Order: sequence, then structure tokens, then C-alpha cells
Amino acid sequence: MVDDITLKKDKLKGLGLISGGLDSLTACLLLKQQGIEVIGLNFKSPFCQYESRFDIFREKLGIEVYSLSLEDDFLDIISNPKFGYGRNLNPCVDCRIYILKKAKEFMKKIKADFIFTGEVLNQRPKSQHMKALKIVEKESGLEGKLLRPLSALALEPTIYEDQDLIDRSKLLGIKGRSRKIQLGLARRYGLLEEYYACGGCLLTDINFSNRLRDYLKFNSCLKIKDMDILRYGRHFRFNNAKIIVGRNEIENNILVQLKKPKDLIMEVPDIPSPITIIQGDFTEKTLKFAASLTLRYSDLKESEGKVVYGNEYQNLSKEIFTKIENDEFLKNYLL
Ligand code: SF4
Repeated sequence: MVDDITLKKDKLKGLGLISGGLDSLTACLLLKQQGIEVIGLNFKSPFCQYESRFDIFREKLGIEVYSLSLEDDFLDIISNPKFGYGRNLNPCVDCRIYILKKAKEFMKKIKADFIFTGEVLNQRPKSQHMKALKIVEKESGLEGKLLRPLSALALEPTIYEDQDLIDRSKLLGIKGRSRKIQLGLARRYGLLEEYYACGGCLLTDINFSNRLRDYLKFNSCLKIKDMDILRYGRHFRFNNAKIIVGRNEIENNILVQLKKPKDLIMEVPDIPSPITIIQGDFTEKTLKFAASLTLRYSDLKESEGKVVYGNEYQNLSKEIFTKIENDEFLKNYLL
């Protein structure tokens, strides 16, 4: 990043962190209106509950959008966030710092001059208040250099505004949760007619957080690709094993795709049945518990039934097990 007056106003290139939502869209619009070249950067995340779409950015604003994925080191941040968690396992301040640090590296590669975001002061009371915005700026090494076009007038000017490279008078001073101003702008410039709130981040979800907490406790080698399976099925912890039971056909198919070669897979043959995956160390007792769970969630009417199981290293076995009938008992193991 160049951080002195050698920057030229007519050649300024901004890298915008974009989620695909209304805020990032209008932040990009404000800078494009000043004649600044804008490049978009999106972070793909297994914790994101919606499919980001960037057609509007590309087609209506002519913005090229790049994508980076969260890496395994993001799980270290979740395990031990310097600035703590929100209500669940969401380390929002550390998450922003992490993403901005990655964006800084990316900025050098594409030779952009500055970074901006669609953040709005006080839009999220716990992570976007003034103090949190300042911490994020400082810890990511972007003090005075992180532009937030939607709230700029409510914040201290960045060096780019001070040096008149960015026209501060054309930025906004939005605060709070309402998206009325952003939507008004998007409509006026024919970008978007309606605003639909996106699904959000799974780290703020209590059930997902419980599963993730369990994953962090029982795994020493943290892998971001392991996050995918946490989204599907019912999850049970039984000693050193994790048992995942599909809730419908779609989940069954996904679980089959996501299981690892070592994982044990089981189902009840010949009748509608969940797919059950056993991960980790399992004993006879675990096998019995998982099989009785599989019978419980199958269409079996009788109290006993056959279950087939195996993995890529052992042949399929077929045995008779007893179905669990007591749902209260199951709650002790449910994550
Ligand atoms: S809600 Fe999720 S994605 Fe957003 S800042 Fe917090 S942890 Fe990061």
C-alpha cells in the first residue's frame, strides 16, 4: 500500500471488502461516483448461510470481484480470540481484523491503494461501535487508512480524505441499523429495488456454536474443510466419538459426500433410514449406541432391527441392534 501524497487522485484504486449485500454495494457506488477504480474482494466462508451473488457489482457497477477462502488459521482465531466472543462463538472483532490483514496482502498483489468496507457505525451494537471500529483499524495495521464510505462523516477522516484524494463531502455519515438511505441510493441508481436481509453467520447460532465448540475440544489439527459437516444432520458426542445422523434424504446424500475414508457409515437396510456417520475413536459400546440411534430415526416399527455398517477399510457388517425409545436419554448426548 502506498501511504503518502504520491497517490494520484485520478488513478486511485480501492479494494472493497464485499459481502454481496446492500451496504457493500452502496459503498462501492459512492466511490465509483468519484471516479475511483473499485475492485471487490469477497471471503468465502463455511459459516456463511447464504450464497453471495455479485452479478450486480459486475454488471451494473463494472466491478471485478475476487474471492478468497478462509484458511485453517481462522479456526485458531475462533479457538482463542484476543477480543472475545459475541453472544455465541462469533469472534467478530478478531474476525474483521483477520479478514483485513488478508485483504492487505491481497491489495499488494493487485496494486490497489487503499481498502474500504461497507461497515456502518452502530449497525451491530456489539461489534460495530466506535471503539470496535478503532480496534479493528489499529490491529489490522490500517490506522487512518481504512475507509468506511457509508459512515465516513461520523468517523475521523482517513489520510486519503485529509490529502483530498477522496472527496469526503461525497461520502455519508450513516449510523445504526436502518438501511433506508442505502436502499434509497440503490434504487435511485437502478442497482436494486428491494433489500432482503441475508441469512447471516453460523458462528452467531447457538446450535452450530455447540457443535463447533465440541469440534475444537476434540480435534488438535483444525481444518476449515471440517466445518462443512457441522452444518448437516443431528450431532451426538459419545465418549471419543462423534455420531452424525442425517435428517432427510438431502442430508443423507451430503453426509455420504463429506465423510472421510476412516469414518464409519451405517444405515438400516430395506426401509427408509438415516445415514449415520461415526467419526473418531469408537468401541463396541459406541457402535451399539450409534446403531440404536440409526434405528430410532429410521421407519422401523419394531424394537429391534438390522443395521449395516462399514468404512473404506473394513467390509460391510450386518447385525441386529435394539432401538432407543427414550428421547430424553438422547438429549444427554445431543450437541
Ligand atoms: S458475524 Fe461472523 S462473519 Fe460477521 S464479523 Fe462476526 S464472526 Fe465474522
